[in-house]
Amino acid sequence: MSSLLQVKNLQVAYGGIHAVKGIDLDIQQGELVALIGANGAGKTTTLKTLVGMIKPAGGEILYQGQPTAKLPSYAYVSQGLAMVPEGRGIFSRLTVEENLQMGAYTRNDKAGIPQDLERIYHLFPRLKERQKQLAGTLSGGEQQMVAMGRAMMSRPKLLLLDEPSMGLAPIIVQKIFEIIRMIAAEGVTMLLVEQNAKLALQTANRGYVMESGKITLADTAANLLANERIQHAYLGD
Ligand code: ATP
Repeated sequence: MSSLLQVKNLQVAYGGIHAVKGIDLDIQQGELVALIGANGAGKTTTLKTLVGMIKPAGGEILYQGQPTAKLPSYAYVSQGLAMVPEGRGIFSRLTVEENLQMGAYTRNDKAGIPQDLERIYHLFPRLKERQKQLAGTLSGGEQQMVAMGRAMMSRPKLLLLDEPSMGLAPIIVQKIFEIIRMIAAEGVTMLLVEQNAKLALQTANRGYVMESGKITLADTAANLLANERIQHAYLGD
């Protein structure tokens, strides 16, 4: 295995507020890694920085061994770095299919797009049934599927998921996690930020715990699930 993403001493500040205080991350090709932590720990800020939405105040991000500092923001998606944002960010007035097609806008191999649409509809049969429906009229779970499907249309190498279970009923959350496992089985590397730490760690290979802008623990998902402090603080046990 080789590192797809290496983050070294990353620091991010909003004005005087230090949201990320020097964190290290290392994500290997093919891994599913969970990033857990309380509200305000800096998880979303970290993801946004990894996809170039926020400029770091310090440290280094290496993607496929190359520093991302000089990568223009439009180039991230074409390089295979895609994020499914918290709150999903779908285009409500476009249909399901139009939303999915938007995910492919940076691709040069336009001929491969219909084939990938079929692949997405295979992963999300619910979206196939609703391909002509306006995305704004979908349920929360279906909108999450659109957001994930749209990111998959860019053929990501590294998919960053921010709170995919947010606001969804437990049965739908299970469905979303089933899809996350299917995406992982296709070989897509993922970094998953999740409030539902138990489910995230049950699904991931490894996990990082983020507290007040710092990584306080990094271990296999199995060890984190067995860790009493983690159980007490994050797993509701
Ligand atoms: P949550 O689970 O609640 O989304 P989080 O771990 O993702 O939490 P962040 O959203 O990254 O945390 O926030 C980290 C810190 O940075 C918080 O103290 C937050 O108030 C602050 N912050 C986030 N966005 C901004 C912003 N645009 N301007 C100023 N401060 C911000």
